[in-house]
Amino acid sequence: MKRAVYPGTFDPMTLGHLDIITRSSEMFDVLIVAVLNNNQKKPLFSVEERVKILEEATKDLPNVQVDSFSGLLCDYAAEKDLHVAVRGLRAVTDFEYELQLAQTNRVLSGGKLDTVFLSTSLKYSYLSSSVVKEIASFGGDISKTVPGFVADLLKEKYR
Ligand code: ADP
Repeated sequence: MKRAVYPGTFDPMTLGHLDIITRSSEMFDVLIVAVLNNNQKKPLFSVEERVKILEEATKDLPNVQVDSFSGLLCDYAAEKDLHVAVRGLRAVTDFEYELQLAQTNRVLSGGKLDTVFLSTSLKYSYLSSSVVKEIASFGGDISKTVPGFVADLLKEKYR
């Protein structure tokens, strides 16, 4: 069984994330989307809310599971016996950070955790959770950036 983990903050999940999830779920037998519990980032949505959003959005993808973790990705991956991490690349600006992260995870895991990069679909290349939150906070139109139910949750948060 080929299993992979797609780790991230997902605060909240966007259509860009969902695109990476859908495409990578076709490449692996099991894909675990793992929400990082990192309070230093002061997330808008709690871990539980972020997990629920991902579960709802992926309910029609039977080989996708949603989980959460704290601490280092390499420790979580070792505990779950996962050896491939999926990450998305939007632009060159993502590259330096993602390369450093991938190399760090490879070293920390003793070579056991490798990273696979998927390039973003063009229509989502500008999208990030921060941009979506920024637009939502000013009451702008986010209908093309997140699923409808997530747009409703964002509107509620900023009401
Ligand atoms: P993190 O804080 O770990 O970067 P994010 O939730 O911001 O968490 O992103 C998780 C992963 O999804 C990262 O690899 C990021 O590059 C990727 N990603 C975010 N937005 C998009 C998008 N619009 N298209 C493709 N990949 C994306």
